[in-house]
Amino acid sequence: MISIVKNKKPEILILNEKEWLEELMEYVKQGKEVPSTVGGRYRHNQIKQTLLSECKEKCVYCESKVTHIDYGDIEHILPKSIHRELTFSWENLTIGCSKCNTNKADYYNPDLPLLNPYTDNPENKIIFFGAIPYPTNGNAQAEMTIMKLKLDRSELVERRDEHIKKLTPLFKEFHKSKDATLKDLLLQDILEYTKPDKEFSLLTKHAIESFRITG
Ligand SMILES: [Zn+2]
Repeated sequence: MISIVKNKKPEILILNEKEWLEELMEYVKQGKEVPSTVGGRYRHNQIKQTLLSECKEKCVYCESKVTHIDYGDIEHILPKSIHRELTFSWENLTIGCSKCNTNKADYYNPDLPLLNPYTDNPENKIIFFGAIPYPTNGNAQAEMTIMKLKLDRSELVERRDEHIKKLTPLFKEFHKSKDATLKDLLLQDILEYTKPDKEFSLLTKHAIESFRITG
């Protein structure tokens, strides 16, 4: 999980958010079931594309490329089942993979919220030892986030392990190299993997620290 900066609100939302919400709340007020054509308007393609670009096509929770697993779901940071008024709120919309979304379900606890990638600086709160994430200094929010989303699930740990194995030859090469120019080139290659559009970038950053890769 890494920090994410919100993109500009898409035009379609600027134009329609208020009206969409009014219509939805009317159904809620009347105790009627909200049709998906009304409640699901946040799935508009313009909104989804803006979110995918903001999240670099990754699940904001597990940093898997969503296009690798599935097409990614638009995810409400605070569940829309509890916060109906935030159904179309730009600040409440993000991208999650189907597994993190399913695990997160309708979790809502104002006393112990999950880490919010836009406001909570998750990079300082989760640390990787090998392929396993841990809460930094026992941070309670990070602990709940890892537990609830199952960020240590075996399928993810296996993929992270493969990722580290793929990088290890580069790390070894870096340590062996005596030539300053080559060493610098290798470092640049390694640092590419820490960019926000790369899968498991936080894991890579921590692996680099463990392997004592420095410029
Ligand atoms: Zn995920």
